[in-house]
Amino acid sequence: MDKDIQEVLFTADQIQERIRQLGQELTRDYEGKFPVVVGVLKGVVVFYADMVRQIQTHCQMDFMTISSYQGTQSTGNMVVKGDISADLKGRHVLVLEDIYDTGNSLTFVREHLLSKEPASLKICTLFDKPERRKPGITLQADYVGFTIPNAFVVGYGLDYNEKYRNLPYVGILKPEIYQ
Ligand code: 5GP
Ligand code: MG
Repeated sequence: MDKDIQEVLFTADQIQERIRQLGQELTRDYEGKFPVVVGVLKGVVVFYADMVRQIQTHCQMDFMTISSYQGTQSTGNMVVKGDISADLKGRHVLVLEDIYDTGNSLTFVREHLLSKEPASLKICTLFDKPERRKPGITLQADYVGFTIPNAFVVGYGLDYNEKYRNLPYVGILKPEIYQ
């Protein structure tokens, strides 16, 4: 285990087992629909690579990058830094996200992708932290890997200052790391 990790929440095996189950659901729901699977970079990359390999029907891969900018008054404003390349009109879209936290990112991504007139749009997040949801955001993910309490997690694609993304498990950092 990495020396900065205080506690492992989900082992690599537990994550793989849950992804296998999600894969069965997604395969059933998207059989023959040739969905566009959209990943929101970069946190999703590890989950994305494992997840698509458990979807046992044709799917197209695409990615987007978003970032938040801080205005003088407000925070949480999002911009598209890199857009997907597929034409979504009339397509079935499945968005993969690493973690659904306040809801700012997914709400923005959803609006952005819906403006491209897909036939359907669903969201699959590996982790969901419902306690952190911003008031007024009612959007629910259609597929959730694990519902977790209000803690900051790293590993399996999730970073702290761009570190720990390559850990094969998900855990909580020691408090001194944040100092
Ligand atoms: P939201 O817009 O829902 O607040 O946050 C979504 C993004 O915030 C995630 O894609 C992720 O990059 C980051 N984030 C939220 N919670 C965590 C967490 O517990 N750990 C890490 N490493 N990133 C998080
Ligand atoms: Mg991040």
